[in-house]
Amino acid sequence: MTQPLADRLASVDARIDDAARAAGRSSADITRIVVTKFHPASLIRDLAELGVRDVGENRQQELTAKSAECDGLGVRWHFIGQAQTKKARAIRRAASVVHSVDRERLVDALDAAGEGQDPLDVLVQVNLTDDEGRGGAAPDGIESLAERIAGSAGLVLRGVMAVAPLGEEPGAAFARLADCAGTVRSVVPDATWISAGMTGDFEEAIAHGATHLRIGAAITGPRPPRA
Ligand SMILES: *Cc1c(COP(=O)(O)O)cnc(C)c1O
Repeated sequence: MTQPLADRLASVDARIDDAARAAGRSSADITRIVVTKFHPASLIRDLAELGVRDVGENRQQELTAKSAECDGLGVRWHFIGQAQTKKARAIRRAASVVHSVDRERLVDALDAAGEGQDPLDVLVQVNLTDDEGRGGAAPDGIESLAERIAGSAGLVLRGVMAVAPLGEEPGAAFARLADCAGTVRSVVPDATWISAGMTGDFEEAIAHGATHLRIGAAITGPRPPRA
């Protein structure tokens, strides 16, 4: 299996290079996170051998279990799923970056969970749909959320994250996300990360300034059924 995995990784990286060049950007300024959800820890070992340094998980139990199994590999764990406040401590123990901060109670829980630890990098997740039930803060709420994070002792605000809504041209959604990124930078000027772009839309995300791509299936192959 390692060969096809290496091929898929190389082909995605070539597409990232091309999209960056087309946008007048350098792929050196873009972090490719491989989303490994539902896949076994052995896949993360194979990815690490291929030089992958950033992996993403969307469920706390899986993050906790796999990061323990992969101890010593030197990969950085990105938590990209909806976070429950009661899981803040476990998330904080395993993740280097939390992309999905979307409410003040979660800011406070993650901050409180980190006493005595290194600061945690976080992103404000923006809901780009009209459906309030989706993950992410509404665009008109992100300024106050950014201020809350900026005022915390143990969290470092790095930027914004979003998933492009279904049924809309992704470029239009990513353009709105770029506006939200500007709002966050008005609070914390060096919060310059934009986490956007998945298997189906990472090239459009790069065209709209994404700095962190979260790519699963195009690299890992189809996901096994959810456990
Ligand atoms: C699963 C997931 C991804 C990766 O999706 P693919 O379509 O497999 O690339 C990216 N972001 C989030 C938040 C996810 O849950």
